[in-house]
Amino acid sequence: MRVLVVEDDAELAASIAAGLEGDGMIAETVGNGDEAAFLGCTEDYDAAVLDLGLPGQDGVSVLRHWREQGRRLPVLVLTARGRWSDKLAAFDAGADDYLTKPFLQEEVALRLRVLKRRSLGHATPILQLGPLQYDANADRFTLDGQPLAMTAQEQRILAYLMQRKGHLVTRSEISEHVYARDLDPESNTLDVLIGRIRRKLGRPLLHTERGRGFRLGAATDADAQS
Ligand code: CA
Repeated sequence: MRVLVVEDDAELAASIAAGLEGDGMIAETVGNGDEAAFLGCTEDYDAAVLDLGLPGQDGVSVLRHWREQGRRLPVLVLTARGRWSDKLAAFDAGADDYLTKPFLQEEVALRLRVLKRRSLGHATPILQLGPLQYDANADRFTLDGQPLAMTAQEQRILAYLMQRKGHLVTRSEISEHVYARDLDPESNTLDVLIGRIRRKLGRPLLHTERGRGFRLGAATDADAQS
């Protein structure tokens, strides 16, 4: 899960990012409203944490700009402004959730996970694919009811594929959402990891589509027609 953290207090931004990364997410920080408005429209983030008081345009304008440009990413507003009128303005501009400072770091990650799940249309945190089950809240897999032991990297890849089960997931999509920017989608690291995951699953659930990417489970109708 790739998250844009918009916060002009550099120390706070770094601590939010560190907390999210400790939680297995990829966080990128930006401290200026104009840059944030641009990045949110040009980069593919899974969610954003957005401060309201920013140099350049303020958080509400940033959010309004993203929504006007059709960006639907879940946005958690994180601000010292706790007045009703501020909350109203943020929700009116398209915020999905609102948290006032000071806050618990754990709560930021928790709320982002819930927002992300909701945006994917999963009412429950449990995803099932045949014998494979993923509990998104606990971030745990079971296979035939038994815990599936995986490295952190394998787990993150499989969690991403599970959330997109039935759909073709490209190599660059995985490298963008599961790794920081430094993994080259053309390197064979990803193939090695996919091979390991496949062996751990022990049955044909994870498919490679040559030159295109990977798919967990059978193709959905929409993709089969494409
Ligand atoms: Ca601020």
